Amino acid sequence: MHNCEKSVTFVDLTFECNMDNQHSYSIAYGSLPQGKHTFEFEVDDAFFRRFEGSEISEGQVSVRVDAEKTSNFMALLFDMEGSVKVACDRCLDEFFMPVDFEGKLTVSFSGDAEEDDFSEDEVMNMKHGDTEVDLAQYIYESICLSLPMQRLHPNDDKGVSGCNKEMLAALQALQEEAQRLKSENSPWSKLSATSAAHDKGKA
Ligand SMILES: [Zn+2]
Repeated sequence: MHNCEKSVTFVDLTFECNMDNQHSYSIAYGSLPQGKHTFEFEVDDAFFRRFEGSEISEGQVSVRVDAEKTSNFMALLFDMEGSVKVACDRCLDEFFMPVDFEGKLTVSFSGDAEEDDFSEDEVMNMKHGDTEVDLAQYIYESICLSLPMQRLHPNDDKGVSGCNKEMLAALQALQEEAQRLKSENSPWSKLSATSAAHDKGKA
C-alpha cells in the first residue's frame, strides 16, 4: 500500500494512491493545492459488503469526481455510472439494475457551514485538523437513492417479463392458499356455517 502522506506536493501521486488502494474512497484534501482536480473511484462487490444490511449484494460502478478546492471548502461534482444487483419486488430473484447518478457535495473545512451557505448542495462539515474526507458513505447512499422505489425485472424485446416464472407460480399458489385459509378462518364464514346449521335445524 502506498503512503499517501508522502505525496504532499504531488497531486497526481495522491490520485494514484486512491486508485491503487481498492478500499479507499477518500480524498486527502489537506495536501491538495487549491484549484481543480479529478478523482476516479471504482465501486465493487467488496464495497457493498462494507454496509451492513445493504439491499445491494453486488455491483460495479465507476465514480468520477470533479473537485474544486478553495481556502474554505471543496466543491465536488459526482458522476456515477454502472450497475448493481438488487432483488426483484415481483419474483424476488436478483438482477442487475443500471445506475446513473449526478450529484453535488460541498466539503466545508470551517466545520460550521450550513446547507443554506451553499444553496441546494449537500454539505459535509469537516473537523478542524482533518485532512481527508471519506466519500464511501456518500457514494453508497447516492447509489441507493438513485434506484427507483419499485425494482422489477425489465421486459425483453418481445415485451415478456424477465421474472422467474417458476417463482411467480409458487408465489401465486402461496397467495391463493393464504387467501383460502383466511376466508375459512374468518368470523363471517363461521357465522354463515352456524346459521346454515341453524336453518337446517329449523327445516
Ligand atoms: Zn422479477
